[in-house]
Amino acid sequence: MSDCIFCKMVTGDIPCRKVYEDDQVLAFHDIAPKAPVHVLVIPKVHVASLYELDEVSTPYAHAMISKAPEIAKELGLAEGFRLVANTGEACGQTVHHLHFHILGKFNDSGDTGFPGEND
Ligand code: AMP
Ligand code: ZN
Repeated sequence: MSDCIFCKMVTGDIPCRKVYEDDQVLAFHDIAPKAPVHVLVIPKVHVASLYELDEVSTPYAHAMISKAPEIAKELGLAEGFRLVANTGEACGQTVHHLHFHILGKFNDSGDTGFPGEND
């Protein structure tokens, strides 16, 4: 999609701090980290959120899930990580291209700062 910031990262039109890439998935550091390690995993096909997954995009979502632990380990998170997909604006989704947040190395509270997380 031409006006989608994450599509532009896939094409290289917008730079990112890449940590992993293959034919289906791109992972890069979040620009405003909510934990000491905060990386986004995105599909290389445009799909707005988990709600919109279809026959084309579902295999990409499977790849995102199966690559996440590998990426987390590469980031030094062998002892644990959190995988978050804010889905819909009501639950904090601000970029409407599907993405999983990989979060790790929390402080003692474990707070990521996502809206409603500690209610
Ligand atoms: P969400 O609020 O779940 O939709 O997450 C969107 C995430 O994208 C936020 O954590 C933002 O900090 C992050 N983000 C927005 N623009 C960029 C960018 N140019 N590079 C890296 N991360 C970004
Ligand atoms: Zn997109």
